[in-house]
Amino acid sequence: MHINGKTTLFGILGNPVEHSLSPIMHNAAFTHLGLNNVYVPMAPKDLGAALSGLKSIGFRGVSVTVPFKEEVIPYLDSIDATARAIGAVNTLTFTKLSDGSIAVQGTNTDWIGSNAALAQVTELHGASALVLGAGGAAKAVAFGLQKVGATVVIANRTKAKAVALGKELHCAALGLDEIDDVGAEILINTTTVGMAPNINHCPVAPHLLSQYKVVMDIVYAPLETKLLHEAKACGCAVIDGLDMLLFQGAEQFRIWTGHTAPMEVMRKALVTALG
Ligand code: NAP
Repeated sequence: MHINGKTTLFGILGNPVEHSLSPIMHNAAFTHLGLNNVYVPMAPKDLGAALSGLKSIGFRGVSVTVPFKEEVIPYLDSIDATARAIGAVNTLTFTKLSDGSIAVQGTNTDWIGSNAALAQVTELHGASALVLGAGGAAKAVAFGLQKVGATVVIANRTKAKAVALGKELHCAALGLDEIDDVGAEILINTTTVGMAPNINHCPVAPHLLSQYKVVMDIVYAPLETKLLHEAKACGCAVIDGLDMLLFQGAEQFRIWTGHTAPMEVMRKALVTALG
């Protein structure tokens, strides 16, 4: 990568952002395709001021992560229908208009990433899925599943949050302690349970796992969570959190550059970074 006066700017807004793997993934792809682009991490204190700055500096595309995915929406010139339905934006595209002003458009690629990760091993249309968690990621994952015709049940530690999300998505909702007899084919963990440093924690009692055909954990540090380790032992097909990260990033890359993302290059960069 040779940064010069013609380099096009991309980045990620989050706070904290120093652990984000997106700079590694996108810069590896830019370098591989010989694109004169660079992707940098940014942790603004004032999101509105940061967006004005990015516009005037000439940024072309920006990822948005925690805690800004919802907060960013009022600052945007437009937001697409899926991001509006999810209520969260993870991708910004900056476009120069004919009058010289810059328009910022928001979209969401998280649901595309989770669907693509799951679709590698199973048909989603007509499938049934239990989604653990009721936070931002759960909403994107559940929305994506419903969009392709899967039936979703939400289960969360704080049941009231599961019920609220269930109402929004018109699906069943349970407490995390009520999932013994759900009987879904696919299990997806979108809670933070099992994430480093609490790597010995599992959101589901291991003896319940054999009922699922596919188990996906969107936690990616560690890559093999306790949940995936136990699910593998039960004979389930397993998908780790790297795939969702990779596929949502590949869609961002396509939106921003018009190029098909070099998936294997991006995957290798992520795996190397995760050790
Ligand atoms: P969030 O909005 O803060 O939601 C966190 C969820 O975890 C809530 O449902 C919370 O339940 C649950 N939780 C936390 N501690 C728990 C515990 N001890 N026992 C049971 N449940 C617990 O976070 P998020 O943005 O949805 O992200 C969730 C995870 O997904 C993070 O690990 C994030 O890194 C990962 N993620 C991965 C990708 C990817 O591309 N692979 C993309 C997005 C997010 P309560 O409501 O009861 O607190």
